[in-house]
Amino acid sequence: MMKSTFQPAWPQLSDLKTANGNELTARTVYCVGRNFAEHASEMNSPIPEEPLIFTKPIGSLVVGAEATVQLPTQSNEVHHEVEWVVALDRGGKNISKNEAWDYVAGWGVGIDLTARDLQSAAKKTGKPWAVSKGFDGFGPVSRFAPKPTSFFPKHLEDYELELTVNGQTRQQDKLSSMLFTLPELIHYLSTLFTLRPGDILFTGTPAGVSQVQAGDQCRAVLMSNTGELESHLDVKITVAK
Ligand code: MG
Repeated sequence: MMKSTFQPAWPQLSDLKTANGNELTARTVYCVGRNFAEHASEMNSPIPEEPLIFTKPIGSLVVGAEATVQLPTQSNEVHHEVEWVVALDRGGKNISKNEAWDYVAGWGVGIDLTARDLQSAAKKTGKPWAVSKGFDGFGPVSRFAPKPTSFFPKHLEDYELELTVNGQTRQQDKLSSMLFTLPELIHYLSTLFTLRPGDILFTGTPAGVSQVQAGDQCRAVLMSNTGELESHLDVKITVAK
């Protein structure tokens, strides 16, 4: 195994600022499981009664329009999960649903890469998902677009996520299909944990998850309600070393 001696930097959210204008550094990466009914169904899993929360280590997060992700040697089955990814610029505890949007700095589109074989084995034996979700580069996200100043949450409902692999569509759905809305997720998380500026939230994936192979080119997009490209992310999958 190759030893690494470099000092990894904390990922910067360079397109976003804190509420008082400072640079925003990425902090905890929260994720939501089974937030689309059809995806829960394809995983033969029940629809959760409250949000299913897990986290990814910060080394999984890569921010930018392009990324290269190396498959880990420990897995033979890595899946793509396209997701709407939101960054916070304020922190707090017990944030109300009505105020939750005020904590949102902006958003992009990301891929919650998952070593499905390791996750399935962990589920069977009651072990955590951390390893299956947390390899280096397993959370690539596009550049973050700041939340527009004249913003109405209703506009987002018709936003659409899409993921293609080598040009073929694998996942496609509207954000309105999310079982728990973003304000509900922020409220729920903040009842459990103190949220901080720079916290990231992967909001769950639609149906259609499938395996990626070395050499695959994945493209994740978030389309606006008028069909314009809002965010995009190109991920090249490379062989395990
Ligand atoms: Mg996911």
